[in-house]
Amino acid sequence: MLRRRQIYLPLSLREPYFRALHYPPSAGHLGIEKTLRRLRSRVYWPGMRADVQTWIQVCEPCQRSKPERRLPFGKCCLLDHVISFIPFILTFYGPKPKSTGGHTYAFVMVDAATRWLDI
Ligand SMILES: [Zn+2]
Repeated sequence: MLRRRQIYLPLSLREPYFRALHYPPSAGHLGIEKTLRRLRSRVYWPGMRADVQTWIQVCEPCQRSKPERRLPFGKCCLLDHVISFIPFILTFYGPKPKSTGGHTYAFVMVDAATRWLDI
């Protein structure tokens, strides 16, 4: 919706205007929402959100300084949604002290459905 104070920006001026508002040190490299709010207080063009998202995603200072918003990777474990596709998991455990048979590794098998462990 075009408001009275907003100016419709032609294609050639959109990115330069974004850069003028986003890149100066005093602008602070704001995030998508705050940048959009600042832009919309003055100008308008269709697809403004998508353009701003793209430009901020490729803005090097933003990518260097903004914290990662993804959860950290978890520990390796059996995934419940994968269990139905994997009948069992095989691995080796060791090295351990030599057994009477001279073996140092154990062959481990886990039934993914019941989590039954067999060595
Ligand atoms: Zn930036």
